[in-house]
Amino acid sequence: MPKYVYDFTEGGKDEKDLLGGKGANLAEMTRLGLPVPPGFTVTTEACRRYLADGAVPPELRVQVTRALRALEDQVGRRLGDPADPLLVSVRSGARFSMPGMMETVLNVGLNDVSVRGLAAASGDERFAWDSYRRLITMFGKTVIGIDGEMFSAPMDAMKRARGVTQDSDLTAEDLGELVEAYKKIVQEATGRPFPQRPRDQLDQAINAVFDSWNTDRARLYRRRERIPHNLGTAVNICTMVFGNLGSNSGTGVCFTRDPATGKQGEYGDYLPNAQGEDVVAGIRNTLSLADLAESDPKSARQLHSVMRRLETHYRDLCDIEFTIERGTLWMLQTRVGKRTAEAAFRIAAQLVDEQLITMDEALQRVTGEQLARLMFPQFDKSAARSLLATGLAASPGAAVGAAVFDSATAVTRHAAGESVILVRRETNPDDLEGMIAAAGVLTSRGGKTSHAAVVARGMGRTCVCGAEAIDVDAESRTARVGDTVVNEGDVLAIDGTTGEVFLGDVSVTTSPVSTYLEEGLDAALAEADADTAELVNAVHLLLQHADATRRLAVRANADTADDAARARRLGAQGIGLCRTEHMFLGDRRVLIEHLILAESAAARTAALEALTPLQRADFVELFEAMDGLPVTVRLLDPPLHEFLPDRTELSVRVAVARERGEDTAADEKLLAAVERLHESNPMLGLRGVRLGLVVPGLFAMQVRAVAEAMVERIRAGGDPRAEIMVPLVGSRMELHLIRDETDGVVAEVAARENVELDIPIGTMIELPRAALTAGRIAEAADFFSFGTNDLTQTAWGFSRDDVEAAFFAAYLDKGVFTVSPFETLDVIGVGRLIRIAVEEGSRAKPGLKMGVCGEHGGDPESVHFFHEVGLDYVSCSPFRIPVARLEAGRAAIAQDDTAAGLAGPR
Ligand code: PEP
Ligand code: MG
Repeated sequence: MPKYVYDFTEGGKDEKDLLGGKGANLAEMTRLGLPVPPGFTVTTEACRRYLADGAVPPELRVQVTRALRALEDQVGRRLGDPADPLLVSVRSGARFSMPGMMETVLNVGLNDVSVRGLAAASGDERFAWDSYRRLITMFGKTVIGIDGEMFSAPMDAMKRARGVTQDSDLTAEDLGELVEAYKKIVQEATGRPFPQRPRDQLDQAINAVFDSWNTDRARLYRRRERIPHNLGTAVNICTMVFGNLGSNSGTGVCFTRDPATGKQGEYGDYLPNAQGEDVVAGIRNTLSLADLAESDPKSARQLHSVMRRLETHYRDLCDIEFTIERGTLWMLQTRVGKRTAEAAFRIAAQLVDEQLITMDEALQRVTGEQLARLMFPQFDKSAARSLLATGLAASPGAAVGAAVFDSATAVTRHAAGESVILVRRETNPDDLEGMIAAAGVLTSRGGKTSHAAVVARGMGRTCVCGAEAIDVDAESRTARVGDTVVNEGDVLAIDGTTGEVFLGDVSVTTSPVSTYLEEGLDAALAEADADTAELVNAVHLLLQHADATRRLAVRANADTADDAARARRLGAQGIGLCRTEHMFLGDRRVLIEHLILAESAAARTAALEALTPLQRADFVELFEAMDGLPVTVRLLDPPLHEFLPDRTELSVRVAVARERGEDTAADEKLLAAVERLHESNPMLGLRGVRLGLVVPGLFAMQVRAVAEAMVERIRAGGDPRAEIMVPLVGSRMELHLIRDETDGVVAEVAARENVELDIPIGTMIELPRAALTAGRIAEAADFFSFGTNDLTQTAWGFSRDDVEAAFFAAYLDKGVFTVSPFETLDVIGVGRLIRIAVEEGSRAKPGLKMGVCGEHGGDPESVHFFHEVGLDYVSCSPFRIPVARLEAGRAAIAQDDTAAGLAGPR
């Protein structure tokens, strides 16, 4: 019989697949002897069975009964006992944390009878009725699906009637009255009374947690975070402990380091006399751990020692949920905490410094994505700005946009191309779509652990929370600070690094990490304060280690000397792709047009002679910028029509001119050529090597320009290292033909100039046929470079320009893609073609150099694949180079489990 239920004493932190993150870590803390309330976990496997079969597995109920009885024996109370009831919480907990996405029901086991038992046992009647009304609310919302408004309305009405503002001002009688009202709401919604049998409550709550795996918002969150939909969630059933038993009770969330900035020290939010989700929901403003140390020094000391113990054990930043019940500390959850990009780098370097982790481990704790985030611009401190308010720096970044006050408007305005700031009193899971659409999130309530802060941090969205001076009124779509009114559409700028909120636009400047990457350590440290210096030094330390560790070289895709120079500053070890077509845009386009339309040998020669010096000058500049490093020059690739006038425009021009009786001979000739060369599917038409084979002299001109530029640079004392690359090859013969021509031209220039020229000639592998016949093609190639853009298009059989806008959103939505295959390599399909080509190519020609120059070369996840498949280099846009360096280093280190929680589902 499958084992679906594990006691907290049975599991451990490495069993997240089965027990979910929360369950595995509760078991780990139990094992460490930390004060965890007893309980048990229903496995993700049970959830998967439930979701697949539409019913709980038959064995589950029996196993729950046995676990429950054991729990009752351990604590000496029975679930829902009329005199002194055991109450439990039922909480979701998937493999990967999905903050606020799924469901929790607290106080399961209370009913009309046991509520009196709880009152007697706790000696606090108000507490008992408060717990009962919370159970019905949570059960109503989660299990039954009643709108939360239905419960808050009677509560608000009662507070108004009693003339009080806080929930805590309501008396036991008031709460008893509310319970009656709530039970009626349940009866009306379901036609049945609120379930009085504790076991029914428990079973229904477990099913509700299972069901919550598939809510729209959970699916949306998983799509964004690339969490597979088939994992399911575990369910944790835990003995209730109460933070709402008076002023010596409370509940809180804390971090062993600051998850926003990475600063050393303990950070947390504490709410006295509160239960469960009140902190995370950001409903009331919280106290700090220092405040707790004043009011309850014993618990604060104990919490401090638990935090230190956990951090030492996990060797990482931990986030912790705890409750203090009448002076006794209980741990409700811990995990390796989510953190901002800045914090990730700083903490990794700190832990190395404290000798708690190795450099290899530190490198696994940061990602290329995080590094990319640190390169974003920041607000210019010297610019004119009008400070509106200051809140908590919850998730860094500089975001500017139009203020919107609800999630739907954020989505609509974002879809229309506008940058928006979502302004809310506090956020809840229903705001997720708006948070995704917004450039930044601003709330007036809640701490650094509120829903807004946690979710924004998780998705790398700029967030300022708890800006209390701002009075947000979602109904009238305004926010007020004193006399200043912000209306919907007014521009706000929020700084998630300082917590500042500005009215109007604020200009941005280069980030210190960008300065470091472009200008070096000294330049970045020159103006840095201590915090910034720590960050820059951390990035430096980890990038250096990545460079020392990685096997993949990193090159740039660059076509101009400026780009090449920038790429070099950013650490490029050469150019992996120079797209020469970019050199013929603008004024020079017409020169190619002349070549294409040349009708005689003389006209063709004239056209080529006009092109050669220009092309040579381009290469001289490029070789100079990349002196001593390889520069892969790709011969002309795009379809011819890109160099000819637009067909429609030209037809109109001819028609208008004819109408006016003007001379149209030249244009008509041009139009005829344009018509002749028109292609229905240019992406699959006359381009790449095909062009080189049918337009005489075109490739030879480019090769001559490369060879002559080499000569010029060598004579100037330089060290040019050109490589010539042929695009869109599908057969060995194509490459042979071009190669013969190319070798001839190079030999001719070398002989004429009396200079030795060594120019490797290689091919792109960007067609399935090329990949599948790579063994043959390798015979004619000095190197391979995978063009994964075209290889993706041709493997899937779609043209990127046509399909991305047409149906990618729908495909992502339907789960056909978890991510666009143009962004992250489709390892299963396109990756298989690459694997075949690598194997066959290196079998045919051992030591054949291989790289990739499609955009995937700068994508973190794809870099890991390219490392694993054995390529020699990746080539990417200049700004992605630091990301590729870091990820290539990470790829070279075997995955370490301690980092798994950070790297996400990758
Ligand atoms: C490719 O196809 O991956 C490639 C690099 O070439 P381009 O994007 O220029 O077609
Ligand atoms: Mg291509």
